[in-house]
Amino acid sequence: MTTNALLEVNNLTVEIPTRRGTLIPVNEVSFNIDRGEIVGVVGESGAGKSITGSAIIGLLDPPARIAGGSVTLQGKLISDMNENQLRDIRGKRIGTVFQDPLTSLDPLMSIGNQLSETAMAHLNIGRDQAREKALQALIDVGIPAAESRLDAYPHEFSGGMRQRVVIALALIGDPELIIADEPTTALDVSVQAQVLMLLKRLCKERNTGVMLITHDMGVIAETTDRVVVLYAGRVAEIGDTRQVLTAAIHPYTQGLVGATPNPTNLANSQERLNQIPGTMPGLLSMPAGCPFHPRCSEVMEVCKTTLPTLSQRENSTIACHLGAEAKT
Ligand code: SF4
Repeated sequence: MTTNALLEVNNLTVEIPTRRGTLIPVNEVSFNIDRGEIVGVVGESGAGKSITGSAIIGLLDPPARIAGGSVTLQGKLISDMNENQLRDIRGKRIGTVFQDPLTSLDPLMSIGNQLSETAMAHLNIGRDQAREKALQALIDVGIPAAESRLDAYPHEFSGGMRQRVVIALALIGDPELIIADEPTTALDVSVQAQVLMLLKRLCKERNTGVMLITHDMGVIAETTDRVVVLYAGRVAEIGDTRQVLTAAIHPYTQGLVGATPNPTNLANSQERLNQIPGTMPGLLSMPAGCPFHPRCSEVMEVCKTTLPTLSQRENSTIACHLGAEAKT
C-alpha cells in the first residue's frame, strides 16, 4: 500500500510467545488514516483493537512484539524505532487518550503544571509561555473558569472534565495523530456525547488524524469518517462509516450494526436488536478458514477451510467469501 496517508499500517502482525504456543492477537492488519480524518477501529473484546493501537505507538507489553508488517507516520517508518526515538514521537507527533483519565494524569501534580511540562517538553518553549499555552488548552476543551482551575489537582475534576483535560494534554504538543482508546467508555451517556463532539471538533479544526478505538457502534456512528472492523485480530471490513452502517457487507459487521441501538438513525430505525450468537474464539483455539465461521449465519463449506482475503466489494473492502465468486 503506497499512499500519502498520515498513518499507514501495513500488514501489521503482533505475536506473544507463550509456553502453550505463539498467540497472534493482531494478524496482517492494514489501514491508513489521513490528516483531519477520524477512523474508528471497532470490534468486540478480544478483536485486537487496543493491541493494534499499542503496537502503533510502541507500547506493547513484553513479551508481545511486532512480528511483521510496518507502521509509517508521514512516510517515515516508526515500527522499527527504538524506545528513545518512540518517546520523542509519543506526545509530540502522536497524542493518546485512554479510557481512564487517571492513568494519563499524575495525581500529585496540578493540571496546569502537567500541561505546562508537556508543552515545554514537546514545543521547546519557556515556562511562562507554556503556562499561557496550558491556560489556552483548558479554554479550548471547555473547562469553565479555566484560569482558576490551572492549580487544581486531577481529583478535583469530575470524570468528564478530567477527560477533557486529558484531551488538552494529548493536543498540547500539536500532534499530527491522536490515538484514543475507548475515551468515553467510563463516562455517562450525556457526558460521553459532549466529549466525543469536543474531540471531533478540535481534531477537525487542527487537521489532526484520529484513530478512535471502541467496541461501540454508536460511538462510531457519531464520530468517525471511516471504520475498520476487526475480528479475531484480522480486518473484516473497512469502509466509509455511513456506508458501513447503512449497508454493511460482512456478516460480522452486519451483526455489530444489528446489535446496536439505532446508531443515529443511519440504519433501520425499527429498534429490533439482534445479538451475534457465540463468542470470539480464543487465540489458542482459532478455527480453520474464516475465524468468524462458527458464528456466521451465512457460512458455506469454503468458509470452514479457506481464510478469506481482503477484496474491494462495492464501496467497502471486506474479507468474506460471500459474493466473492461473482467477482471471479
Ligand atoms: Fe461468514 Fe464465510 Fe463470510 Fe466468514 S467468509 S463471514 S463464515 S460468509
